[in-house]
Parts: sequence; structure tokens; C-alpha cells
Amino acid sequence: MRIIRDFVGTELDHIQVDSRRTYAELQQFAQEFMPEIADKIEHYAGSAPIFELYDVENEVQRALGRKVELKSGGYLIIDQTEAMTTVDINTGAFVGHRNLEETIFNTNLEATQAIARQLRLRNLGGIIIIDFIDMLNSEHKARVLESLTAALALDRVKTSVSGFSGLGLVEMTRKRTRESLEHVVCGECPSCQGTGTMKTIETVSYEIFREIIRLNRAYKADEFLLYCSPAVYMSLSGEESHLLAELEVYIGKRIRLQNEPLYIQSKYDVVMM
Ligand SMILES: [Zn+2]
Repeated sequence: MRIIRDFVGTELDHIQVDSRRTYAELQQFAQEFMPEIADKIEHYAGSAPIFELYDVENEVQRALGRKVELKSGGYLIIDQTEAMTTVDINTGAFVGHRNLEETIFNTNLEATQAIARQLRLRNLGGIIIIDFIDMLNSEHKARVLESLTAALALDRVKTSVSGFSGLGLVEMTRKRTRESLEHVVCGECPSCQGTGTMKTIETVSYEIFREIIRLNRAYKADEFLLYCSPAVYMSLSGEESHLLAELEVYIGKRIRLQNEPLYIQSKYDVVMM
């Protein structure tokens, strides 16, 4: 219902629904409140999953990735943070010097179309900073801005574009409407809590060693039992087992390892026996 409310009055061909019940509910709603779109709502009774039929699954997968390939060989990197979205444009493989400015101009031009589409697909709102590849020619800059503005004009959501800043960045805003695609279909990563990085096996190992030394000083234990993630277990029982052996000699006690398949890499527990 939200979708048909949002799309009424736009260039809508038809809406296909694969659930007969939802279809009936939508028909009833449309006939009552927006009869002009009632005959555009169709029931899909095919055997192939509707998302598969229209390649939606893959499109969503692509719209969640950071990298967006351009036909020219260049690509965009889209990063969404709490405060803003940044889009970085890159040329692909090595481009010769002769047509460098022209290649850059064409890549930036192609990027404007891709950016407008990605902002819609990902439903990105708020401040968006675009880092086009540096252009020397001021006419090229003007045409890239023009192309971006034209591509954004097709957006149902209000957008506003500033010119190139002193650092050569284009700032723009897109009105926030509900949540971005990423926030709708993804949750925070439990391994890194959204930071995108996590402690290395080495860092975790040294944390564990310090913890064991600390506990050994503070309490009287006969031996230690270490529960750790599979990655740390693999390391300490394999390649780095000499470190554990050295620590055992240093504290004069045995340290037993226990693999905990459900532990994230940075999680561990040291138990005194
Ligand atoms: Zn993560």
C-alpha cells in the first residue's frame, strides 16, 4: 500500500503481486482510493519466483556493494556513514596520456547517470559528497554538473546540487525518505560492530597473553583453560604454538586451548583451574 501510494501519478506501467491475498487487498484499496491505478495491479501466477524473473535478487545484491562498475571500465565506490554518503569516481585500468582529459571527462559523465540511479536504488538521503576525477577543463566541469542535475531531475525525491567546491568536490543533498536499502535489509555486523574492521588474530593473541599473565599474578591457579574463536585457536595451536609454549614456561603452568566455534574473532575467555 505504501508503494502504490508513493508511485501514483508517476510513469507506472504495472504492479505485479505474487500473493493472491495481497493482490486482493491492494485491489480493494485501489478501487476505493485510487481507481485510476486499479487495472495496473496484476496478480502474478507464474511458477518462477517473481524476484528471480526480474533479477531483483541480483540487483539488490549489487545495490548493497560498495563498488559499482561503469561500462567504460571505470567504477564508483559508494560509502554510507552516519553523517553522509560519499561517492568516489575512478577510471579503470591504465589510460594513456594522449586522451587522458577526454577519458576522464567521459568517465565522469557516465558516472553522473550511475550516481543518480544508485541514489534511487539505495534510497540514500541527506548529504552526498561526490569526488569526480579531477578535470582541468572548466567547460567539462560545467557539463558534468549539467548532466548530474539532468539525471537527478528524474528522481521522485527532491535533490539539490552545489557546484564544485575549492577541493573539487560536488556537494548535494537528497531528501531523506524512510530508510536506505542497506538499513532495511541489513543489520550491524556482529564481528566488527559496524566499524568494518576487527582486531587481528595477533592482537587478540597478545591480549590473551596479557590477561593470562595478569590472572597468574593476581590469583593462585594450577593451570589455565582458554576458550577462543576458531581463527585464534588455529593460530595458537598451529603456526604460533611456540608463543603459547613460551608463555607456559614463563608462568610455569599449563595452558589448555578450547576451540569455540561460535566465538567471534575477538572474543575469548580465560578460566583458572
Ligand atoms: Zn564487520
